[in-house]
Amino acid sequence: MLPLDPQADLGRRAWAACPKCDDAVACAPCREQRACAEHWRYLLSNSGSLLHLQCPGCAHVWAHETGFGATRSLWSRVTSGLPGRR
Ligand SMILES: [Zn+2]
Ligand SMILES: [Zn+2]
Repeated sequence: MLPLDPQADLGRRAWAACPKCDDAVACAPCREQRACAEHWRYLLSNSGSLLHLQCPGCAHVWAHETGFGATRSLWSRVTSGLPGRR
């Protein structure tokens, strides 16, 4: 088993390129910036437009700046359960 973060939750996923394994580079849906069924990342947490993601493939954890509002790309859209502002 990969050392997944305890906050990793299948119900909270985001689409972003993993800087470590770059597994989506040759994937057609990903390159078209569609929500790919294979290449997604766990959304561990987010603060503002900064997401903390973990790659289920290589277990790499990184911060991803989405720039919500600036780019409306599906690629950086969080699909389900944006934690919302408290
Ligand atoms: Zn990865
Ligand atoms: Zn893909």
